[in-house]
Order: sequence, then structure tokens, then C-alpha cells
Amino acid sequence: MATLVQKYGGTSVGSVERIENVARKVIEWKNKGDGNDIVVVVSAMSGETNRLIGLAESIIENPERKSSREYDVLVSTGEQVTVALLCMALQKLGQEAISYTGWQVPLRTDGSNSKARIESIDPENLSRELKAGKVVVVAGFQGVDDDNNITTLGRGGSDTTGVALAAAIGADECQIFTDVDGVYTTDPRVVKKARRLNTITFEEMLEMASLGSKVLQIRSVEFAGKYNVPLRVLSSFDEGTDNHGTLITYEDDEMEKPKVTGIAFTRDEAEVKVSNVKDTPGVAATILGAIADANIDVDMIVQNIGTDDRTDFTFTVKRNDYDEAVTVLNKLRETIGDDISISGDSSIAKLSIVGVGMKSHVGVASAMFSTLAKEGINIRMISTSEIKVSVVIDEKYLELGTRALHDVFELETPREMRA
Ligand code: ASP
Ligand code: MG
Repeated sequence: MATLVQKYGGTSVGSVERIENVARKVIEWKNKGDGNDIVVVVSAMSGETNRLIGLAESIIENPERKSSREYDVLVSTGEQVTVALLCMALQKLGQEAISYTGWQVPLRTDGSNSKARIESIDPENLSRELKAGKVVVVAGFQGVDDDNNITTLGRGGSDTTGVALAAAIGADECQIFTDVDGVYTTDPRVVKKARRLNTITFEEMLEMASLGSKVLQIRSVEFAGKYNVPLRVLSSFDEGTDNHGTLITYEDDEMEKPKVTGIAFTRDEAEVKVSNVKDTPGVAATILGAIADANIDVDMIVQNIGTDDRTDFTFTVKRNDYDEAVTVLNKLRETIGDDISISGDSSIAKLSIVGVGMKSHVGVASAMFSTLAKEGINIRMISTSEIKVSVVIDEKYLELGTRALHDVFELETPREMRA
């Protein structure tokens, strides 16, 4: 007998029929083997959170910031609908079930509305319901702060609810049911030969998620890694309970460590270059400080070694921050000199290879670079960490580059069979 937390996303509960399908699935898992205790976390029906945000935006601009308390009261209702409907569907099939909103659990968060952080979860209510044989259905994405305000955890936050509940009740596994059947070596829409991974480490998954693979909310992976909650991604449309999906877990010593586990990419990047900057202490702080003050996230940063007292900076930002970044830099001319020159390109992409095996293999980066060179793809920027190498390239070569790397690192071949 195991205790499982199962999270079903918006598409999986996108209609009444799908909710009834989820109910059947939950019951199958509940009765599997000698029986399991099940806590279910659901998202709002697909499109519902966007619809609610749209209503708010028709009244005020940027409600998430300007009326963040009421924004949370509003958007948390989507999940309240699905917990109730799923419980009704379970009850109709003869399964006792009870719904919980975030505050009823209670799932305590800090007070930062619209992007609250979970602080604690009291497992007592849930444990009592489970003991009574019920399936407990909890609203994802929401909690309550110390002053009893409803809070939400940021878009995609139901994944994090799932993992946090699993940690709080000591579940054996947190299963994320979604519209894909696992984590792939890369986006199958770009590389047809992309393969589902049986396992991936927390570390790799974090990189994949932050580098653009959108299967899970990043915070849920961080949370799972921190509390060592085994996390499994499964398809909610597969029949039965025998599917393996992808298990995200700690590296085990038996695991053959491939050099590269997956390829991630993001298209919506832009590159900004400031050149002819005086090479004196404080210029990086001034330039990047101004960008940060404008609330623009910077990803890669490159500064060249200066020549003749002059240097240049290149950095990347999200594409929709590009114009704003250029405006901010132009304003800086007054402080750092009118002779700087500002240029950029808003049609670049970031392509990354990820794998824990890089820690113990040399030559992975150079294999990546020569593969791209063979395809005639120019590398504009490079950044590395222990388990990833990222390059910035022209967006138009992204698909070509991804396919070439997928071939070179033999990602279509299961790792135990690679040369
Ligand atoms: N319903 C919320 C959203 O759409 C939370 C979630 O689905 O995880 O972002
Ligand atoms: Mg979601």
C-alpha cells in the first residue's frame, strides 16, 4: 500500500467528460494492488485561469500587480470548480471523496499575492480523511497567508502544490498527469526521433525546465529535489495504471550516465550589446543595475577583456523586454558617456545540452560546437555550468541545430545501448 499524490493539469480536467475520466483513473489507482491512499490535486479547467485574468484586465490594467489580493481571490476560483466536480464524479462511481481548497488544508504561504511561496502545510486534515478511506481532492495553485488572505502560487503552480503536499504527508510518489506521457530528450515537435526518458535527475530536470522544456513548473522540481519527493510525469490520456512515464529522482550509482540527457531551447530571447564602454570599476554594476531596476531579467552575460580602456558587454533578455532594455540603456548615456554604442538582435534563440554525465566526460562542449559548425551555424554566445552547455544562435537555425545535436549525441538510442 502506497500513498500517492496525483496532480491532473488543466487539459486533463478540461471538460466534464475528462473529469469523469480522471475519476475512473483515480479509482483504478486507489484499488491497484492491495490499495493505495490517494490525494488528488487539480488545476482549473484549461483556459479558465486565462479567462478569469481576462475579466480582471477588462477592468484594470495589470491586475496581478495593481490589485494583487483580489487577483488571487479571482483566479483561485478556477480550481475550486474542478475539485468539486471531481469529487462529484468520484462519488457517482461509489468512491468516497472530499474536496479541500488551499485554506481548508491549510496550505500556508507568505503574503506575496500572485506569486506566494509555500511556508508550511498541516497534514492533519488530509491524513484523517485518508484514514477514513476517502480520496482527498485539493485545489492546486492556492494557499492562505497568515492574515487569512487567499494567495496563489504563480502560473502553473498546481505542480508545486502537488509536490508540497507529497512532502507534507510523506507520500511515496508525486505523479504529475499531463497531456504528454513523460519528459522527452527534446521537443518531439522539432525532432521526430525524440525519445521519452525513463528517468532523469532533479538536477537535469531543473536545467531542462529553466532552459525551456515546459513539462513542469520549475519550482515544483526544486521543491521535489529539496524534499526528495520522487516525481513522475505521466499521461492522463493513457489507459490503465501500467505506464511508467518519466521518473525524476536522485542519481543512482547504477545509472549509466550519458554525456547528454536532453536538449532544451527557448526562442523568445533577444541579445543586447553595449560597446565602447569605459573599462573602469562599476560599469557592469551601472549597466546591469539599470536593467535590473527596470525589472528586466538578464540571462547570459558576456564582457570582453578591454582594449584601449574600452570594453563591451553583451547580454540576453526575454524578447518582449528587448525594446525596454534598449530604452533603459539609451538613458544611461548621460551617466556612462555619450560615446557608447548600443545594438542588438531580437531574433536569436538559446540552445542547450544537459546531462549529469558531463561532470565526468570531457569534450562534450567541443562536440557540440563542431556539430553546429558543420551545419554552418554561427555561435554568438556560450555559457556553461557543470551539467549544461548553452549557446545563443540565430533563431532561424534552431531546429536544424537541435536535430544535428540530437543525432550526434545519439539521443534516439536508449542510453544503455549507446556506442
Ligand atoms: N490554473 C493555474 C494556471 O493556469 C495553475 C495551474 O494550472 O497549475 O496557471
Ligand atoms: Mg498547468
